[in-house]
Amino acid sequence: MPPTATLDDIKAHQRKVEKDKITPDNLPPCPRCKVESGFFKIHAYRERRFLVIIEMLIQAAFCTLVRFVCPGCGKTFTHYPDFAIPHKHYTRQSMVEFSANYLEADDMTYQKAVMLENEVPGYPNSDRTLAASTIHRWITTLGRFTQTCRTALILLLQENPASSICRDLARLIIPKRKYKTDQRRKHLIGCRQLLIIEAFFQATFKTSIFTKLATHCAFS
Ligand SMILES: [Zn+2]
Repeated sequence: MPPTATLDDIKAHQRKVEKDKITPDNLPPCPRCKVESGFFKIHAYRERRFLVIIEMLIQAAFCTLVRFVCPGCGKTFTHYPDFAIPHKHYTRQSMVEFSANYLEADDMTYQKAVMLENEVPGYPNSDRTLAASTIHRWITTLGRFTQTCRTALILLLQENPASSICRDLARLIIPKRKYKTDQRRKHLIGCRQLLIIEAFFQATFKTSIFTKLATHCAFS
């Protein structure tokens, strides 16, 4: 099964947009003037192209993202559904699954990590396939969610002070062959931490850190 069963999620989001069911409540208050997000007004609808992998083919799926505006100062905010990461066309689920593929086996390479059942997903009517360098970039993106991870960890420890999560995070080691620079090592560790924290978060709160918590931490 490819790691993006999210075409239904995208369609469900689109239906919510069309029925005017997207509310700004999940957004944090305006950082400029502290107006609560419940007072935000709809500012614009933007069509976004997402990429999902269906039967080894990379397919485009379109849906609308809603932008809200703060009535106090005019600052605008995008509402992201839980499958969307800012500036990324692939869904969060694909990014997470392929990154985990690479990170969770010590002998894994990027060339192998793009494969699903010994095949690399490709674009329809083209020789182009999912690139190994794309996984490398996803790990960079996911490895930078420092504030989100920190906030999630605080919430987890408040809920369960005896949790093993700190031990699990401290035990992480990235094989030396996977990085040449200290910055890369930090992104690899950061991404693995995110995956572990997300699993604990799901188990504890029955919800993902995507996207309410990540939004509150400005996807950082
Ligand atoms: Zn404002």
